[in-house]
Amino acid sequence: MTQPLPQLDAGGRLRHLITLDGLDPGLIRELLDRAQAYQRPPGQPPPRGDDLRGWTVANLFAEPSTRTRASFELAAVRLGADVINLDVMLSSRVKGESIIDTIYTLEAMQVDVFVVRDAEPGIIEFIARHVGGHVSVISGGEAHVSHPTQGLLDALTIRQHKGDLRGLTVTIVGDIRHSRVARSAHRAFTALGVGELRLVAPPEMMPEPQEFEGARRHVSFDEGIRGADVVMMLRIQKERITVAKPTDIERYHENYGLTAARLATAKPQAIVMHPGPMNRGVEITSEVADGPQSVIRRQVANGVAMRMAVLAHIADARRRRAP
Ligand code: ASP
Repeated sequence: MTQPLPQLDAGGRLRHLITLDGLDPGLIRELLDRAQAYQRPPGQPPPRGDDLRGWTVANLFAEPSTRTRASFELAAVRLGADVINLDVMLSSRVKGESIIDTIYTLEAMQVDVFVVRDAEPGIIEFIARHVGGHVSVISGGEAHVSHPTQGLLDALTIRQHKGDLRGLTVTIVGDIRHSRVARSAHRAFTALGVGELRLVAPPEMMPEPQEFEGARRHVSFDEGIRGADVVMMLRIQKERITVAKPTDIERYHENYGLTAARLATAKPQAIVMHPGPMNRGVEITSEVADGPQSVIRRQVANGVAMRMAVLAHIADARRRRAP
């Protein structure tokens, strides 16, 4: 059996970021602190740095993305890198070139970091095994499996609004079974010692029993939201659902949609999160999505800061390896 790819270098710093599995809580905290330092109040110019001066970052996204791709691009540019965006779906894979040939081609053009999103589990790690020793690979979302920078930015958002995750009750609601966002959130929140993690989903959207260790499962939203500090809503991952029966959207909204009435049963200052893209009127009403308890736009802002933090950390680590 192939050994899992080590993401860390000999100094315990990130060379790649493919999953949050097994990452030391101290390293997660350090990345959150670094992202926190990139925060600027709205209206002020965004922070910039030289950490990636002379570097080239390639965004290879084989699945649709708005926030993740744009934020990786802005993060890299604000740190001084050159950036190329390739829609790999439309390019060489369709022409029959293997993904590895695409990687080798771009590496020959002196790409230093690949940010990859793909619908096939394992592809991102496969790429990381094939790149040169100085090149890093960051996941921009892997199938239903993981979305590490999203997990980090979600943890950062909670920390900013609620402080320490210890003692908090976090409820994740919706299509958890097919959600990489939920899997990475579980990793990040657990590493940071979350008080109670609740999963709310209809039976067909619940993950396998061996997954999400330590989380409590609720089929009833009304039960799972009671007294929560954080309510994180998810989109139905239609592109990953293979069962023939389509979801009855009206019933879904009735049972699993976040409305103002439901939110009123969480803690009074509970925050509402959603990774986007949102289906207003399905998993969340506009009243809640745009309401005073929503931190959804804060998550987007944190996405840029978090990706800057990860890129800057990886660049530092490379400089330390090769002084
Ligand atoms: N944008 C998130 C993701 O890439 C959530 C979603 O698509 O529903 O997984």
